[in-house]
Amino acid sequence: MISRLFLSLLLVFGCVSVWAQDGPPTGKYGQEDKFRQLEEILPTPNNYRTASGAPGRGYWQQRANYHINVELDDENQRIIGSETITYLNRSPDSLNYLWLQLDANIFARGSNAATTATRSNISRLSYNQLKTLLVRETFDGGVNITSVHDAADKPLKHTIVKTMMRIDLDKPLASGESFLFSIDWNYRINDCKVLRGRTGYEFFKEDGNYLYEMAQWFPRMVAYTDATGWQHKQFIGRGEFTLELGDYLVRLTVPNDHIVGATGVLQNPEEVLTEVQRERLKQAETAGKPVFIVNPKETAAAEKAKPTGKKTWIYRAENVRDFAFASSRKFIWDAQQHDVNGNVVMAMSLYPKEAEPLWSMYSTHAIIHTLNVYSRYTFDYPYPVAYSVNGPIGGMEYPMICFNGPRPEKDGTYSKRTKYGLISVIIHEVGHNFFPMIVNTDERQWTWMDEGLNTFLQYLTEQEWEENYPSRRGEPRDIVSYMRSTDQVPIMTNSESILQFGPNAYGKPATALNILRETVLGRELFDFAFREYARRWMFKRPMPADFFRTMEDASAIDLDWFFRGWFYTTDHTDIAIENVRLFEVDTRDPDVEKPLKKSRGEKPDSLSKQRNQPLEKHDDLFPELKDFYSKFDADAVTGAERKSYQDLLKGLSEEEKKLLATKKNFYIVDFKNYGGLVMPIVLRIEFEDGTNSELRIPAEIWRRNNKQVSRLIITEKPIKGLILDPHLETADVDLDNNYFPPRIAKSRFQLFKDGKKRNEMQKAQAAEKAAEKAKAAEKAKDSVRAKDSDKAKDSETPVVEK
Ligand SMILES: [Zn+2]
Repeated sequence: MISRLFLSLLLVFGCVSVWAQDGPPTGKYGQEDKFRQLEEILPTPNNYRTASGAPGRGYWQQRANYHINVELDDENQRIIGSETITYLNRSPDSLNYLWLQLDANIFARGSNAATTATRSNISRLSYNQLKTLLVRETFDGGVNITSVHDAADKPLKHTIVKTMMRIDLDKPLASGESFLFSIDWNYRINDCKVLRGRTGYEFFKEDGNYLYEMAQWFPRMVAYTDATGWQHKQFIGRGEFTLELGDYLVRLTVPNDHIVGATGVLQNPEEVLTEVQRERLKQAETAGKPVFIVNPKETAAAEKAKPTGKKTWIYRAENVRDFAFASSRKFIWDAQQHDVNGNVVMAMSLYPKEAEPLWSMYSTHAIIHTLNVYSRYTFDYPYPVAYSVNGPIGGMEYPMICFNGPRPEKDGTYSKRTKYGLISVIIHEVGHNFFPMIVNTDERQWTWMDEGLNTFLQYLTEQEWEENYPSRRGEPRDIVSYMRSTDQVPIMTNSESILQFGPNAYGKPATALNILRETVLGRELFDFAFREYARRWMFKRPMPADFFRTMEDASAIDLDWFFRGWFYTTDHTDIAIENVRLFEVDTRDPDVEKPLKKSRGEKPDSLSKQRNQPLEKHDDLFPELKDFYSKFDADAVTGAERKSYQDLLKGLSEEEKKLLATKKNFYIVDFKNYGGLVMPIVLRIEFEDGTNSELRIPAEIWRRNNKQVSRLIITEKPIKGLILDPHLETADVDLDNNYFPPRIAKSRFQLFKDGKKRNEMQKAQAAEKAAEKAKAAEKAKDSVRAKDSDKAKDSETPVVEK
């Protein structure tokens, strides 16, 4: 309803044209300050990390270089490796011991992952799930550490603590020094189809071959940082990997009929590739589209053959935080070289025939598209290769190589979900090269820093793949049901403790960044700040505060309320239009105002009055009873009132007269915040003449009262209605209260006929009847078959069907 009230002239003159009204005078404030600065909860800036969110003057990080020899035992599905690590202590601290990660111990019996797994109900299990539960009880995929020794071959004292291993140093490793040591190890590889994980093998029953996607397969240095010291929070399965950057030289020995893909550049193609394969790789440099290095026909032949020996593939990778590889005789291999702003990248895909025809069509294209778009929003992809591999793992990222699961049906057809699921997961996993492979975050602690930022860029990249790409995450409207849900924790929660993992660590931060970009900062400011963050922390290790601070530092917009609300709370957006009131200027002219006042004050006749109308009235029978008051009209304008108005005008200046004649409409709109999140108010104003305009009010309107605010809107034209968040850009969870006047919610209901359920006796009788019928049919078939076989025996020539 639009109510009409009068403003006194003084009030109108005294106001600026736009203002926000404070909340009710409660005496004490009584609400939390949603705009309170984050400084109190962020770590104090220091020499390593500045208050602007950049690496500080004294920023340092450790470095670990690896030389690894590893054999993939395809007969027994084992890894046998030996490595030499050069650990560079660039911290200002001296270290008495070193910590390494033994991730394969997650598959050891009695691991934290196994013993702390919870399950409240097993009333329904798939065969595969039961198999997983049973195999988990017996499989031991833990690492056997067979030797730890220093450069002089002297054994080093080491202690294994579940998925971590401490090496005690004879003398402390001083700041600036390096330490060289070696480890030999081996372990059983997990069947990834049964014991899921981010690594493992897949066995193909049909052709008897294995496909390996190998990750977390060697003892890796625990990260030692200025923010956490050793980040050796145990690997339980959710929180991913916090790692040091370094250079790798890896010799991978595999059956000589395997095709390998790995982090880094192949150093000995002439030893492991055929001349034809090398020639095709050369063609891929200029072909402009994916070229088969190993084509499906060649793979089909390899699948049927046996290896005649072993081959060692040698890879070198510089400035990477990890090393993964894939190996199988089942791999089809395609490649296309692509130039990312001057950096030449070989984009490659490896996949078994089971992945066709989807993979040769989309995989390498998706890699190249991802490198292009991500580079535009962050920094140019710096590595020389980028692989996408199909195997048992649904989606997992490593430097320069990622594992992606989707495959078509056996007959080669596929659902829409599979097609876009494949393109999306490749974009996502290749995209992880940027976060966290290069912008090297602490994944064990903060999942959102890689998954959230990456899912945000994934959304932008998907939207540039094709018109109306069906992105799962990124649009504010798609996060609404999660934001409304009760079973949730803030984004700033340790990875292992997150509830609703996908929406919390992927969907919500991705959506928050999209809202920050489109609604809070605008694209230009956001893109500048986001790129600044990516570039500041390229090959470095940012913490949450560095992101929050950089986004403010580069945009000049206070975003503490935004990060506080979206990242530290579970509040949601639900803003409502509570009321709208219209004010107009009182002209003070009695000939205008009195009739208006009368018409506004008019009330409908009461029911009694209406019904009493026909009754004869006493004073009509005796007209002499009527006097002055019988005819007096209190609403009529008097001469005295007109004179007083003229006197008022005489006392006004020309400017005041003009102001008094203002014909504008002054609306006061009351907003209420039901969701808790303070957010910008986006308001579409629809006018009575059919036109409309849009008002975008920054979130600071809530700065003194985050529960309810009122806003004055001055218009020439009368307003017909208001719509809050007309583009659905704020993830407002209740749209019903976004309209003024409210709208009738439209829906449909279905009609059905009353049916009676069968009782148990009826069901038993029906089953009996069906069994009899089936028996009879079988009998009839048998007699036909007997006749046919008699006929066939009679005939000399085979029966040819027409
Ligand atoms: Zn991810």
